Amino acid sequence: MQTGLAKLDLFRFALFHVIRWGLALLLAAGVVATGPLSIGSAVASDPVEPATGVETAAPSDAQIGQQGPFIVFAGRLTEEGGNTHLVLEVDRKPEFNVFFMENPDRFVVELDNGVFRFADEAPMSAKGLVAGLRHGAVSETKARLVLELSKPAAVDSKELEAVKESGFYRLVLDLKPVSAGEFTRNLAEQFSVLGSSGSVVRKGDRVRVPEKRAGVHRVVIDPGHGGIDGGAIGLHGTLEKELTLKVARKVGDSIDALGGYEVHYTRDSDVFISLSERQRIARNLNADLLISVHADSLKQHSVRGATIYTLARRATDSLAAEVADSENLADVVAGLAAPEAQDDVTDILADLTLRETTRFSKHFSSVLLSNLKPHVRLINNPQRAASFKVLKNPEVPGVLLELGYLSNSEDEKMLMDEAWQERLATEIAKAVDIFFKQRGPGR
Ligand SMILES: [Zn+2]
Repeated sequence: MQTGLAKLDLFRFALFHVIRWGLALLLAAGVVATGPLSIGSAVASDPVEPATGVETAAPSDAQIGQQGPFIVFAGRLTEEGGNTHLVLEVDRKPEFNVFFMENPDRFVVELDNGVFRFADEAPMSAKGLVAGLRHGAVSETKARLVLELSKPAAVDSKELEAVKESGFYRLVLDLKPVSAGEFTRNLAEQFSVLGSSGSVVRKGDRVRVPEKRAGVHRVVIDPGHGGIDGGAIGLHGTLEKELTLKVARKVGDSIDALGGYEVHYTRDSDVFISLSERQRIARNLNADLLISVHADSLKQHSVRGATIYTLARRATDSLAAEVADSENLADVVAGLAAPEAQDDVTDILADLTLRETTRFSKHFSSVLLSNLKPHVRLINNPQRAASFKVLKNPEVPGVLLELGYLSNSEDEKMLMDEAWQERLATEIAKAVDIFFKQRGPGR
């Protein structure tokens, strides 16, 4: 069963790249038009200049459904009760991303391998919360629709629906007015999840990190808890935060010893690091993989064995939900409780930008499982998933590894055994190496 799953993942992974590179080649060859605007740099804060001409290239029947970028062929703006609706018709299921920018305040819909070809621009004329709009390509594969806001706004609802029989899709985004303060808070939250301008890096937004040498993969090891947040405490007094740091260092050393990898840590001492800060560290480093190391407590003391968790909106089971809930409390423990109030933007992101990352994460989980299996005691169903905040990172694939559970006396003894720790670290490093060899050269 496990081998079957791994093969399926590999197949999906290969297929994904065939499609992705096929599109990139088509676009590079100019076979597929990417829109009316040609912008050289993807680092400008808002690369879409005001449109100089009206584009009216609706997709022909022949274009619709053929390979190539998906086409947003119609759009309209309407007002209702203070809200402004944006409706976009798409010829097939789109990959896209939405986010806000400030100075001036804007709402951006960014397409991934899609183009805007409105048959008629008139229904898109500015109204309500939208003072003006423009669209065009911002890179070889990305296009943006930029709505200038007349007032600060937030996403009230979003829906992507399949239109019966036609095979088309309709994206409906509802914008509501919010206070300037709320807009600023939403931007801060969006920034912590995405970077200030969605998937496009803005100059000066990020701490510059050295370019990765060709073929070198960056792995971030994240020892759970630390400082004021001790994590779980074993029946014999073991502190999770100390165990995770110790094991993380062994894992890092084993990966370093392979050569061809750059290892970083979210913490290298007994300090508190918030969950969003851990995410940020991995993202700013442009990490290729995050491995978060834990050894938590469960209510059921009989449960034991290593568990590999990936990110999912809904937990696979009640145990996974329990672990995620307790992990996500880390910030609360440290008095940083940030209510998850502003969730519409983050929800959209979770939906739409995590897909590729999720595929990589699941693949790594499978590779890790087959390496650990002969050497490490595992829980029943060792691949589980839940909504772990530390893994909510659109750009960095990752897993949260529970080495075992400190609520189980035998697990605690095993986890403290140096030889066991070494064995585990070696197998994790092997899995990392296999994962990247299968995945190909660095991004
Ligand atoms: Zn933990």
